[in-house]
Amino acid sequence: MGSESVKVVVRCRPLNDREKALSSKVILSMDLHRGQCLISKPGAGDEPPKQFTFDGTYYIDQTTEQMYNEIAYALVEGVTEGYNGTIFAYGQTGSGKSFTMQGVSEPAAQRGVIPRAFEHIFESIQTCLGFIRQCAENAKFLVRASYLEIYNEEIRDLLGSDTKQRMELKEHPERGVYVRDLSMHTVHSVGECERIMELGWRNRAVGYTLMNKDSSRSHSIFTIHLEICSTGADGADRLRAGKLNLVDLAGSERQSKTGATGERLREATKINLSLSALGNVISALVDGRSKYIPYRDSKLTRLLQDSLGGNTRTLMIACLSPADNNYEESLSTLRYANRAK
Ligand code: ADP
Repeated sequence: MGSESVKVVVRCRPLNDREKALSSKVILSMDLHRGQCLISKPGAGDEPPKQFTFDGTYYIDQTTEQMYNEIAYALVEGVTEGYNGTIFAYGQTGSGKSFTMQGVSEPAAQRGVIPRAFEHIFESIQTCLGFIRQCAENAKFLVRASYLEIYNEEIRDLLGSDTKQRMELKEHPERGVYVRDLSMHTVHSVGECERIMELGWRNRAVGYTLMNKDSSRSHSIFTIHLEICSTGADGADRLRAGKLNLVDLAGSERQSKTGATGERLREATKINLSLSALGNVISALVDGRSKYIPYRDSKLTRLLQDSLGGNTRTLMIACLSPADNNYEESLSTLRYANRAK
């Protein structure tokens, strides 16, 4: 697997009101042309900043639109051609993962990666169908969506009839790894996709309020499954199937800062375990020399096994706060992202 299949970008959000009120200083800077990100240690005097290079850097006032067009577009296009792809948002809680993946409706340039991917896929289908019809062929397409979360190594269906039920991970010789009884929702338009995303998002939030838990501790995976079946003039059927996973990862913050104990600490250990399992899988794939890819180490990596490595494309978006009080977390995010490329 060439490193072309895995891309890593970093995105730095603006200072938030709390950071402004604390008179936090901005310690991150970026060279957008070179893909470089520099981080200065607060109070380190003349010590030179640490420098990292990525496939793309997005600073405070850059938009999701720009990032999508420059880096995510090609990956999603690959899905419409029958390849699997995965886009992750990684970073500490409050660093901009949901802002990047789900986005906001205003301004339009900050609509998220997920709604942009829906739009892109439906536009590609229309173009593709038009082309196939021109060739006097018949074509049908099917777009389905599923949405699940992994919390404490337990899987729940965010669109199922019972969102509290724990789902089982199964393995099938042909089908690969899958979640038994996960609900699949056929969608015909961008609007329907958006409604489904919002429904899952609401179900997730309601569940957390009821259980008095914190959604930043779960990984959520929205998957768009695409099948295009065309019948050629010779009567032969051709099936193209691709899958796009859009993953909002649990907050990557370490526990020394949050001071968790008991149940919370156990949860945190599991989060750290699956994030480090993901980091290990990606760096083994990027390295290209490892024969053994440790997919089995967490539910997250098992579940994404058919969409990481091989003939697939992966994009990691590492989200960062620019503030000096987040130095340690930002440095650890940059190191994690750096290992993945
Ligand atoms: P996370 O999902 O990582 O916990 P959020 O996406 O909820 O973090 O972002 C935290 C806050 O920062 C939100 O209020 C969000 O609107 C804001 N924010 C994040 N990224 C940006 C950005 N690039 N531009 C403007 N506001 C942002």
